[in-house]
Amino acid sequence: MNTYPLYDIEHLSKHTFRIRIKRPDIDIVSGQCFNIGLPGLQINREYSIYSAADSKYLDFLIRAVEGGQVSSALQKIKPGDLIEVDGAYGEFSLKDPLNNDKEYLFIATGTGIAPFHSFVETWPTINYTLLHGVRYTDECYHSNDYKEGSYIPCISKPADGSKGKRVTDYLSNNKLPLNTQVYICGNRKMIIDTFEILHSKGVSGDKIMTEVFF
Ligand SMILES: Cc1cc2nc3c(=O)[nH]c(=O)nc-3n(C[C@H](O)[C@H](O)[C@H](O)COP(=O)(O)OP(=O)(O)OC[C@H]3O[C@@H](n4cnc5c(N)ncnc54)[C@H](O)[C@@H]3O)c2cc1C
Repeated sequence: MNTYPLYDIEHLSKHTFRIRIKRPDIDIVSGQCFNIGLPGLQINREYSIYSAADSKYLDFLIRAVEGGQVSSALQKIKPGDLIEVDGAYGEFSLKDPLNNDKEYLFIATGTGIAPFHSFVETWPTINYTLLHGVRYTDECYHSNDYKEGSYIPCISKPADGSKGKRVTDYLSNNKLPLNTQVYICGNRKMIIDTFEILHSKGVSGDKIMTEVFF
């Protein structure tokens, strides 16, 4: 594994943080992931790139899972600490991002938003709608980074006590353009439920790409 000093860590909520290293001189495709660990820990986990592929930094958005071996250890690191970073891997990428006629529907839960943040930072002119399912309002990470009107938070426990909603509620209650290319990223249950709703609304399987985080 290659080791790099941590450049910066931003704590975004009680559980979630963004880590940053200086971008290594390697080929990166937006949507890919890296294996990350800490020296001596002897285990590593996959994390999707959060930053633009051509950024001078390489960022990751990580949720510290309760009792999670790698994510909890990463939450405690400080600038200058060494981390192990190996990659990039994976096929979860946009097929034709420079074609302005393409429309994308991105659906994420939690830190599953990471590859979509990377997509829109890498190709700021793409046409997209992003549905982001989170439990709490403070989990709408960097929501100002998205084009106005494109980011739709689906908050299941809103701070103002109003009725919560999930990405599956939004999809069930709204009309979907059938020619949209759909990308889904997050936990397996959400992906299965979402796939079924999309299928029942006539979106064909070849228009749906998925990335399972856990
Ligand atoms: C291709 C890929 C990309 C990924 N990208 C990211 C990313 O960008 N950001 C990110 O935060 N995670 C990402 N993950 C998940 C990550 O690899 C780890 O599984 C996660 O950080 C837990 O590892 P751990 O060692 O801390 O926990 P472990 O000690 O392995 O314990 C994990 C337990 O927590 C559950 N779990 C895993 N992730 C979550 C979660 N987010 N919320 C609740 N429970 C969970 C698992 O099902 C398991 O029961 C990605 C996974 C894959 C396969």
